[in-house]
Amino acid sequence: MKRVILSALAVMLFAGASAQEQKKEYPKPEGMRPGMTEFWTPQPKVVTPGDIKTNSAPSDAIVLFDGTNLSAWKSRGGGEAAWKVHDGVFTVDKSKGDIETKMHFGSMQLHIEWMVPENITGTGQGRGNSGVFLQGMYEVQILDCYNNETYSNGQTGSIYKQVRPLANAMRKPGEWNVYDIIYNAPVFNEDGTYKVHPTITLIHNGVLLLNNFAIQGTTEYIGLPRVVKHGDGPIQLQMHGDPSEPISFRNIWVRKL
Ligand code: MG
Repeated sequence: MKRVILSALAVMLFAGASAQEQKKEYPKPEGMRPGMTEFWTPQPKVVTPGDIKTNSAPSDAIVLFDGTNLSAWKSRGGGEAAWKVHDGVFTVDKSKGDIETKMHFGSMQLHIEWMVPENITGTGQGRGNSGVFLQGMYEVQILDCYNNETYSNGQTGSIYKQVRPLANAMRKPGEWNVYDIIYNAPVFNEDGTYKVHPTITLIHNGVLLLNNFAIQGTTEYIGLPRVVKHGDGPIQLQMHGDPSEPISFRNIWVRKL
């Protein structure tokens, strides 16, 4: 009986304390005002966009080809870049091998325009084949895929043999194609594996082909991608050995990210 009375008393005391706590007034959070979430500094740097008529580069871009010469490039095999510059463009020379930028890059925004000649011949991978290698490692495929089918993970805008693009946005031979690439360089673990994969977003003629795709490794013709530890690297353009007529490039610029 005594234990029952004590228990009842404890319950009454607890209930009393709880009720008192509920009545206690605490300060309320201060009401939000618009200015509390409006930050003025730092201001983004001013970048003057390219001229829409002349298709020029933004003011903070590194121009890699302005129509006059290949001084920003060299032959991958050594020596000067020997592809032909003419009429404000340059054309692959199939006897001279790949070319690459003298400068090395990590993460970047890259703009590059390319054209398959109107008189192109060949089929499949043997028709206007070239490519843009990011950091000298990862090929974004260039191919004439206008009415020309091939394996889908090797067509225009694929990361070669890793992923098919989300669309085929080819312009026909004789018209200029535009690649706008946003690339994030990888981060490596000590043991040479990826801590963070390289990623790429690719827009082709205004159409999204790759949406933040995580690159799996090198883009091999034969075999699986390999993970090879690397630092900054060049932008490399491919001289493909197929016998079709060579493609041309113009208006290349890059912004480091
Ligand atoms: Mg290629």
